Amino acid sequence: MNPLHLPLIRRLAGILSGIPLRVQITAMCCSFVVVVSLVTWIIVSRSQEQVIQFEALKLADIVVNQAASARSAYSSLAVSKLKADGLGASEFSDDLPGHIPLPAQFLKDLSYRSRQDTNGLFSFRPISKWNLAPEHGIQNSFQEWAWEQLEDQNRRAPDAPLDWTPVWRISDDENGKILRYLTADPAASSSCVNCHNELEKRADVIAQRIASGVQPGNQWQLHELLGAIEITIPLDRVAALARAQTRDGLLIVLGITIIGVCGVCFIVFYDAARNHAANAKLTFHANHDSLTGLPNRFALESTLNQLFNVDGEGIACESVTLIFLDLDNFKQINDALGHETGDKVLSLGANRIARALPADGFVARLGGDEFAVVLRDKTVEFVNTVASDIAESINQPYEVEGYKLSLGVSIGAATCPEHACTTSELLRCADVAMYSAKNGPLTFAWYDPASDTNAISNLVMKNELREAIENDGLEVHYQPKYSLKTGRMTGVEALARWHSPSAGFVSPEVFISLAEHVGLINDLTTLILKRAATQCQQWRQMGFDLSVSVNLSAMNLHEGTLPDLIRTTLADTALPASALTLEVTEGTVMTNVDRACEVLSQVRALGVKFSVDDYGAGYSSLSYLNKLPISELKLDRAFITHVGSSEKDAVIVRATLELAHNLGLIMVAEGVEDAAALDFLCSIQCDQVQGYFLCRPLPAAELERRLPFIHEFTPAPQALEPLQPTDDLLHPIPQDKAA
Ligand code: C2E
Ligand code: MG
Ligand code: MG
Repeated sequence: MNPLHLPLIRRLAGILSGIPLRVQITAMCCSFVVVVSLVTWIIVSRSQEQVIQFEALKLADIVVNQAASARSAYSSLAVSKLKADGLGASEFSDDLPGHIPLPAQFLKDLSYRSRQDTNGLFSFRPISKWNLAPEHGIQNSFQEWAWEQLEDQNRRAPDAPLDWTPVWRISDDENGKILRYLTADPAASSSCVNCHNELEKRADVIAQRIASGVQPGNQWQLHELLGAIEITIPLDRVAALARAQTRDGLLIVLGITIIGVCGVCFIVFYDAARNHAANAKLTFHANHDSLTGLPNRFALESTLNQLFNVDGEGIACESVTLIFLDLDNFKQINDALGHETGDKVLSLGANRIARALPADGFVARLGGDEFAVVLRDKTVEFVNTVASDIAESINQPYEVEGYKLSLGVSIGAATCPEHACTTSELLRCADVAMYSAKNGPLTFAWYDPASDTNAISNLVMKNELREAIENDGLEVHYQPKYSLKTGRMTGVEALARWHSPSAGFVSPEVFISLAEHVGLINDLTTLILKRAATQCQQWRQMGFDLSVSVNLSAMNLHEGTLPDLIRTTLADTALPASALTLEVTEGTVMTNVDRACEVLSQVRALGVKFSVDDYGAGYSSLSYLNKLPISELKLDRAFITHVGSSEKDAVIVRATLELAHNLGLIMVAEGVEDAAALDFLCSIQCDQVQGYFLCRPLPAAELERRLPFIHEFTPAPQALEPLQPTDDLLHPIPQDKAA
């Protein structure tokens, strides 16, 4: 049976649960000490009393024997000797020359002297019911009680000495505790009996007997109760001594117990303090992010829950504003310069956010490059100012390990009670606002309920993306690449497309990064790679000599399974390895150059080509270009889009082309958006081009429909008649430039 089911124990447990542990332990220790002392005192006192009694009885026994022995020695050595000499013992020995007192008188005298000599240590006195001297008669209640008991043991005319049991009692009187002890002093010899019986016949004795109310003429026989010896031993002095010793002993025991208990308490409290410190540390770690030292998501949720007074009546203040922050470009820093540098930048960023807050602002790191700020009772204007302060401070350059780096930030805010009044809902709203800031032109956005249906809820999106990948729900669009030398389409770049059920079209940059975060990137790459390879092989079989480029993410490259995936894809789709190009970004490679080199070499050995995508957009070093088994450089569209009008871009593009050629690479210019850019690229003899001006990415079926017109380079734009020029689907390269 569970003891907690007993009402009393349950009640006790209830009371105890309200008392702090330290108080409980202290109270228990004190009670323990008191109980131990009390029990020890009782046990020791009791046993001492018994020992004292025992010793006192032994002493009484000794005294009686000594007195009887003294009388017997007196009787045999002195009285018998004198009798033999014709003299003897007499009651009136003082008046008779050559006579000594009777043995009974000797004993009385002995008792008198010993009372004086022992200074109260003990006393003995012969008494009898018939004694003529009142001092030796029965005088007090003890003597009466004890004499009666001796008479009970008496037998008339016994033929052998009786086995007398002494009678004793410990009584308290004004002098303290006293042992009173009475033992029989029977008629021990015939001469003694005769002597006493003779006395009883004397007229003066008879008269005295009558006067004192005792039957005269009593006649004794041998071994009968003639008299008794009374011993009194005061026990107080011994008891006081014993008490003092008990007290001393107890004090020592108490001292040791207290020291022991204190020791135990110390250990318990020390241990409790250590546990407390360990718990505090655990709590700190459970509530804080180890990198930045800021509170973590859990702490943020607890703070919000408290403000929303989850268990109580409602919101604890007028308003709560949640600001959601997501750093822009941070992934690039991480990818390009490694996690250590990324961590340092993140710590600096976290510091800047914290410094930009008002004193009562609360900031937490939610994970990765996401942060959240909680503000209480602040106006819209105030929140706007805080958001712009944060953005301004985040945008300042970061100097880390010799690099001068820059970061951006997207900020969203939602407020309670206006937008939501639960932790999860407010977080969602602020998240939605942050996403709308990320996808819009401004750094900061307030939550807009009207547009929430179109906003991307990160959480929902993750699940939807998972489902889309598992159920082959992604689409692939293809964007042609053209050779400026031949004027022909050399291949297509496969670009993933996704329509989320809740958010509609989602930019690949967003869902690719999501897939990386939730560990779906390998499945996504497998899916796109298989689709693209199958599609490309179909077009090849239709007679179009095309290759296909597929984008890889950093995680694909660091997965050991990439070579196998490529091998089986090529085998399954029958696409020649030479018709497949894999595009990797600088950041992808730079995360771990050695590992990237190893995987790239294994795949290159299969005959597949590699292209460095978005070249120039990251924080790359030129040195890796030499190391990697790459064949193509795709200059980032940031340099291409305005190259027709920007002299600086033109210089960069020209220099990069030269660099690529010197390294034996071909250069692809992506992001060609107008004729001026195309003209310039033709003029510097760039190898390949890709861009909206030439053709936008198209669904496979649409591209296939147009392939007959756009695959073979023809100078006749009329060939594209069915298409609207505004579609920007195709602007074939003029043949003169194609040379
Ligand atoms: P990317 O690999 O550099 O792809 C080129 C991007 O530039 C595409 O954007 C394309 O639509 C866009 N683009 C092409 N020509 C022009 C132009 O003239 N002007 C402008 N402004 N843009 C142009 P998209 O499709 O949005 O893809 C964005 C990025 O998402 C890609 O950049 C690539 O890094 C990534 N991505 C797309 N599909 C996949 C995929 O299947 N796997 C992986 N890992 N990443 C992918
Ligand atoms: Mg690409
Ligand atoms: Mg690119």
